[in-house]
Amino acid sequence: MGARVLVLGGTAQARLLANQLNELGVPVVSSLAGRVREPKLPAGEVRTGGFGGPCGMAEYLRGERITALVDATHPFATRISENAVTATTDSGVEMLVLRRAPWTPGPGDDWHRVGSLPEAAETARRLGSRVLLTTGRQGLHHFTRVRDRWFLARTVDAPDPPLPSNMTTISARGPFTTEAERELLLERRIDVLVSKNSGGPMTEGKLAAARELGIPVVLVEQPQPPHAPTVDSVPDAIAWLRERVDRLHAG
Ligand code: NAP
Repeated sequence: MGARVLVLGGTAQARLLANQLNELGVPVVSSLAGRVREPKLPAGEVRTGGFGGPCGMAEYLRGERITALVDATHPFATRISENAVTATTDSGVEMLVLRRAPWTPGPGDDWHRVGSLPEAAETARRLGSRVLLTTGRQGLHHFTRVRDRWFLARTVDAPDPPLPSNMTTISARGPFTTEAERELLLERRIDVLVSKNSGGPMTEGKLAAARELGIPVVLVEQPQPPHAPTVDSVPDAIAWLRERVDRLHAG
């Protein structure tokens, strides 16, 4: 495959794709935002930090002679995905979106689907009194406004202080097993769980544990995906890259 691929990362799936491309001998650059203090790094080249908007990204694509871009960012990272659509259109680079299908409820699930973090805060407040928050460090301020409920916020890196006295934090990084999640829910006497509907196997143990324990789940639904060809698995992304990039080089 005669290509140089930019993978917009920050997810386990992005790391897996970069590792596999690297094993196949495809030159790959992974781009990380730099939010996590000690990120798990993929194989191959890694760059860190923003590009400076869509124009900065288009400049980067041209300067680094990138032939294809895979947006494998988290489904809730909407700005970088929009920037990628603009930058690839402007610079004539092929773009693919790699994102996992969202989770869907099964028998026994008590899911409350909402469209935003403020709505999640309101719904969790209505449903319970001891809330496990797994929505990440960046949106915590939507929950710190609620003073009459207790929150346990689990984030990769500890959030910046000050935090209100009704919020406790734990730092942990997935994957999390159903057993460990059940233990956490019981130990902390959690009666409502809040999560983004990120999809994927790494963090779905909490949903199975909540189901077993009859705990309601407030799920923030994914925002609109970027307007570009989309696949939901690493093998499909590699197949797409092979086809496009070989065709480009043949032409
Ligand atoms: P965002 O709101 O869509 O992006 C904000 C800005 O951060 C972008 O405009 C871009 O800056 C920079 N940026 C974001 N992702 C980047 C990347 N992979 N490489 C280089 N620059 C990047 O993104 P976010 O929600 O803050 O997420 C940041 C990162 O964390 C992403 O890589 C994402 O995959 C990961 N992540 C996000 C979530 C989540 O819930 N949002 C969860 C897990 C992991 P410039 O405009 O200067 O280029």
